[in-house]
Amino acid sequence: MTMRPFGVLPTGEQTHLYTISCGKMEATVSDYGAVLVNLMVPDQNGNVDDVVLGFDDAAGYAACTTYLGATVGRNSNRIAKAQFTLNGKTYTLAGNDNGNNLHAGDCYCFRMWNVLEHTESSVTLGITSPNGDQGFPGKAEIKVTYALEHPGTLHITYDGVCDEDTVFNMTNHSYFNLAGQANVDKAMDQILSMAARTYTVADEQSIPTGEMRSVEGTPMDFRTPKPIGRDINEDYEALNLQGGYDHNFEVFCNPCAILSDPESGRTMSVVTDCPGIQFYAGNFLGADVGKDGVLYTKRSGICLETQYYPDAINHPEWDQPVTKAGQPYHSETKYIFG
Ligand code: BGC
Repeated sequence: MTMRPFGVLPTGEQTHLYTISCGKMEATVSDYGAVLVNLMVPDQNGNVDDVVLGFDDAAGYAACTTYLGATVGRNSNRIAKAQFTLNGKTYTLAGNDNGNNLHAGDCYCFRMWNVLEHTESSVTLGITSPNGDQGFPGKAEIKVTYALEHPGTLHITYDGVCDEDTVFNMTNHSYFNLAGQANVDKAMDQILSMAARTYTVADEQSIPTGEMRSVEGTPMDFRTPKPIGRDINEDYEALNLQGGYDHNFEVFCNPCAILSDPESGRTMSVVTDCPGIQFYAGNFLGADVGKDGVLYTKRSGICLETQYYPDAINHPEWDQPVTKAGQPYHSETKYIFG
């Protein structure tokens, strides 16, 4: 592993980058936010390019409102009305998205993390989240491990333990463009395949209604691979409400998603132990000047965020993102490149 400076934050804190490698693959993460900054992946001719959107320094991440490369926790996605009840007690979070909570509010992606362990090909970062942090119960010790594995896998693992029953639902919010992060106009040509038969129907604030709807015969159907841009502008209720793809799909088998770029031949299969995957087509991008001065325009990268269903904590009929006091929280996702 190599380390280099990543700039000073407005708070005066010095940040760092850590690069791990395995064969031709390289991943760089920062102790600021435990964000994934670079992911270098070879194409079919062995040419290596960076396939995630990001910034050239930590200040870029500190000012970012679109969660580029973010490690999201304690809870990812939305909690309706920024409230939930656990063990008979009601907890209030930041209403940072139309009065709903999005990505926990003061997200862990805006914190300094400590590097706990590393090898040539893996790095583990840790953070302590105090009792009441972001509004969640209990003091939590949290770790995220980025590991590169042969022949071409990025394996992200989340571990946590809390002294009270709490919500744990962590994800990575990387925007992928397998054509290379600078090729902003090619992101919608990426071909996506997802096995999901259903997705969670949401209202205009992206809060699930509770209904799981069949993808059959709709633009939401990715069971046959198709370019993401093909149907994204269809006049279809779910696409109109969310402004494009920004939906949670069921995960009932793995890989739950396979993304590919026709020109470079790069492919990425997503394998997870989570019950859901949020496919977000970067509809709200448009203002970030990213790595190498590239302007990330609307839909210039796509997120495949593995997680519990959005607002699951308010839907007892769904898998619950609750970890009991003293019990381990563990979740992992592999991004397998070809
Ligand atoms: C959500 C989007 C949101 C975005 C913020 C995604 O996980 O699904 O609705 O705008 O995060 O970058």
